[in-house]
Amino acid sequence: MTRDVDTDRVVRQHLEMDEFFTGFVIKGSTDVAAEEAKTSEADVASAAKELETLAEEVRQCRKCDLGGLRTNAVPGAGHARARIMFIGEAPGADEDARGEPFVGRAGQLLDKIIAACGLKREDIFIGNILKCRPPDNRDPRPDEIISCLPYLQRQIEIIAPEVIIALGAHAARTLLETNKSIGQLRGHFEEYCIGIGRPAIKVMATYHPAYLLRSYTPDNRRRVWEDMKKVLVELDLPIP
Ligand code: URA
Repeated sequence: MTRDVDTDRVVRQHLEMDEFFTGFVIKGSTDVAAEEAKTSEADVASAAKELETLAEEVRQCRKCDLGGLRTNAVPGAGHARARIMFIGEAPGADEDARGEPFVGRAGQLLDKIIAACGLKREDIFIGNILKCRPPDNRDPRPDEIISCLPYLQRQIEIIAPEVIIALGAHAARTLLETNKSIGQLRGHFEEYCIGIGRPAIKVMATYHPAYLLRSYTPDNRRRVWEDMKKVLVELDLPIP
């Protein structure tokens, strides 16, 4: 017994099935991707809100004498869920005048370092150990660090970066609770803990851009670049 096969119909059915599965897969993954994007947008927005509330607290802060001397507090700026956080020492005159971190000469060099890494300021977060300028750009005092550090700790908890780049000895020693020199601390990863059950954050110490400006030798520039490359490799980011 023979049966007439309607080949057109069979082909049409196959194509429909194909379209159905392809459509299903694409539709499904698009929905998941859209959902993830929405969640991460909501996550960034909520972290940004928390950071802004914290920044307002910093602007009102009078926990140490620096609060009475500042023109502007400098809470920090950047992406609320950045993968990389740069942490400097304290605002200088330019930062005090504008309320933004690293906007003076050291900031311009930091911008070059960030660009050399293939990054933009809006991808990262930049903060400081102290949020107010010490007079005459003197070193931060231990009592000032003790008063101010909880703000930075909360910023780190909110942002939860994968890597912190500690710029200079003050930032590195404060975060890593050590008295070692920047020469001993730079060039390899240390860890910073934000709490039980949360992954430790990798810390790469490197020279402060202000030091680099004072001592702009090929060796020092190479060392900073070596440190940055290790961070890029750690984050699976391309080395430009
Ligand atoms: N130096 C710092 O450590 N921080 C700034 O914000 C500017 C200069």
